[in-house]
Amino acid sequence: MRNFLYGVDVGGTAIKIGLFSCAMQHIEKLELETPTEEHETKIFETITQGIRILNEKNGLTFDDIVGIGVAVPCPIKNGYVERCPNLDWYKINLNENFKKWVPKEVKVRFANDANIAALGERSMLYESYEDVVMVTLGTGVGGGVIIGGEMVEGARGSGGEIGHMLIVDPSEVDFDCGCGSRGCLEQIAGTRGILSYAQKMIEKYPDSILIGKKFTVKDVFDAAKANDKAASATFERVTEYLARALAIIAVIIEPEIFIIGGGVSKAGDFLLQSIEKKYKEKARFDTDKIRFALAVTGNNAGIIGAALMIKES
Ligand SMILES: [Zn+2]
Repeated sequence: MRNFLYGVDVGGTAIKIGLFSCAMQHIEKLELETPTEEHETKIFETITQGIRILNEKNGLTFDDIVGIGVAVPCPIKNGYVERCPNLDWYKINLNENFKKWVPKEVKVRFANDANIAALGERSMLYESYEDVVMVTLGTGVGGGVIIGGEMVEGARGSGGEIGHMLIVDPSEVDFDCGCGSRGCLEQIAGTRGILSYAQKMIEKYPDSILIGKKFTVKDVFDAAKANDKAASATFERVTEYLARALAIIAVIIEPEIFIIGGGVSKAGDFLLQSIEKKYKEKARFDTDKIRFALAVTGNNAGIIGAALMIKES
């Protein structure tokens, strides 16, 4: 009987591998370093190694495994990746290549990590929602879109890349986005955008408590909570653009709920309430009724969603 699932999350620095029962009970997690060379084969090798370790520890073999779901940080369509510079993958079908590493009875499916996180978070909500949009705020700004219970990959895999929505005049930003363009939401609401704008605001408001410090996004948001002018101006700009982006998404697909996640979302209700308030001022028609929630799975969103993807396939 095949009663177990694997959810894998491949990041730039670590590969997380989670073992789950088919009832989605989390059994064990293992974290291995992402190989820095020969990505194509080494990443597959590392995932297989990790699975063998967890199988052995839990008295399992591949005969007990339904499948392996894998989250990757790049646009991907039906397993095909055109380019993923940070993992050095070019024109590769990950589903087909990885199948060679495991017995053919084991299901294999790769998908975008933000889409997978949305799938994981959706399963944690108290009510069941078919249409969900998740925004992940961290170094980058990720987006996951689920419509009718299915992840939206788009025609070539760029569906749901909310972080690269052209939302600010490119002349207002003075560095290139990770995608190579300028004016993306990520340049405002990603870590680099937040820190560089905060620095500018500190120069404008030299009485800021952040002056002379090496600060993090958390420091900026904490200072905003304490009504520091430079930090508040930065925080308001971030939530203004996020609200604007969500209002645009709302009139295109009108999801039932927006989920805000990622490291930056640790600011919690302070962040969520600010985005929601600004969003409601911009919402058209009945889109002001869309609900908001904070993500709850934290670092495990990728492995949970990846295992779920196999369970639901
Ligand atoms: Zn971009």
